[in-house]
Amino acid sequence: MQAKLEDSLRDPEFFLSHLTHLHKPILTNSNQFKPNHTMTIRPTHTALTILAVSLLGGPPAFAEDNDATRLLKERSAHLEPMITQVSESAYVASGYSPANISMIVGEDGLVIVDTGMMPPHAEEVLAEFRKITDLPVKAIILTHGHGDHTGGARVFLEAGGDEKPKIFARSPFNSEGNLFETGGVKINKLRGARQAGFLLPPEKRINNGIAPAASPPKKGNVFIGNPPRPTDTFRDGTKKLSIAGIDLELVSAPGETADQLYVWFPKDRVVFAGDNFYQSWPNLYAIRGTGYRDVRKWINSLDAMLAEKPAHVVPGHTQPIVGEEKSTEVLTNYRDAIQHVFDETIAGINKGMTPNELVETVELPEHLRDLDYLREYYGNIEWGIRAIFSGYLGWFDGNPTNLFSLPPADEAGKMIALAGGEEKFREAASKALQEGDAQWCAQLCDHLLALDPNDQQARSLKADALEFLAENLITATGRNYYLTVAQELRKSREK
Ligand SMILES: [Zn+2]
Repeated sequence: MQAKLEDSLRDPEFFLSHLTHLHKPILTNSNQFKPNHTMTIRPTHTALTILAVSLLGGPPAFAEDNDATRLLKERSAHLEPMITQVSESAYVASGYSPANISMIVGEDGLVIVDTGMMPPHAEEVLAEFRKITDLPVKAIILTHGHGDHTGGARVFLEAGGDEKPKIFARSPFNSEGNLFETGGVKINKLRGARQAGFLLPPEKRINNGIAPAASPPKKGNVFIGNPPRPTDTFRDGTKKLSIAGIDLELVSAPGETADQLYVWFPKDRVVFAGDNFYQSWPNLYAIRGTGYRDVRKWINSLDAMLAEKPAHVVPGHTQPIVGEEKSTEVLTNYRDAIQHVFDETIAGINKGMTPNELVETVELPEHLRDLDYLREYYGNIEWGIRAIFSGYLGWFDGNPTNLFSLPPADEAGKMIALAGGEEKFREAASKALQEGDAQWCAQLCDHLLALDPNDQQARSLKADALEFLAENLITATGRNYYLTVAQELRKSREK
């Protein structure tokens, strides 16, 4: 199995075809985390120790957590499995699956909003819901086509009594996944597995920022899903439903995806936000790779939810917001935060700033900076800024030097010569990490690897640097990505 895993890391197709065998489904990771095994690193004075330990082989281990690691660990409590009754007739299961599963209880049946990532998660939630009611499921609403919201649908379809439940969604359903599939793009699956930490051992996974760590149902396709076919779709505006005595409005709400909708439940004044809202800085860009997530539309969708004047907000992930005052406050701040970053980014763009310059200057205003539901547990502000830039202007940063850059190996050769030769260059890379400048270390290693991708010393040093960066990053997706690539760099060394 180990050999297969190593093979899979080099070959995305192989990886995808074997993922099922590599991971047993895990319902929740919250009690798998072993604090004593974490690699916690303080940015400045412990880097030297890491190197020393690394040279001896085996992972470095430290007793204390830095702020990023501590905050992400503390997040796990928020992600524990929990059923919340948000209103008279609406219940939310959070923490059972990466995405929330909700139930609205009607006169003679149930409406389910989103179905979780995989059937075992959905079965566990259905069992909890069955403690509340045994009414049949009459309809399923999918807020969008991502697999972590659609993968458990079968379980609720089978809980439908005599009549098969209808599945409501927006068209074109699964727009993001379809774009990859029709274009023949596959690498997003491997990148998605890195981002989600699917290839990491349990002790290296804390949580996914907005979800407990879980493993995928099959083929690592969780983010774009193999969703069930909706039976009833609408494209724009609002679709009004009346099911089992429950009046609902499905509202077109492009944002995280183009096929996103929110559900408005007027009787209890609950909005089910899909992934346009969860308690974290939003993933305006997913590092597994996405096309532009239209940030202005996302803001408009938040405005539309606010205009409903909800008493409660059910996010696509994380715990619900209960109470009108809190709901208004949270949605307003969330909207304002995204708007601020968007406006500042556009202002900088219009001054001719490049993405690398923009990420140094655009930040949240002080009154929004420390709000827990805007912390970068899942999305990262810098990645959002870059996404807005490329969403409007594409890949060219405006600096003509970059119209035709030197090939990486050419640049590396020249830089190494400039540094006085390879030995000095390697010394500088090691020293950078010893001094806590892991980013610089990784960048220097990239030059060495541009000349020789199998340079074992550079691979190992870069892996050390990435692990350092991971431990100092609160954003779970980036952290997982760092740790997985570090693992890949080390795996080949063992061969
Ligand atoms: Zn989601």
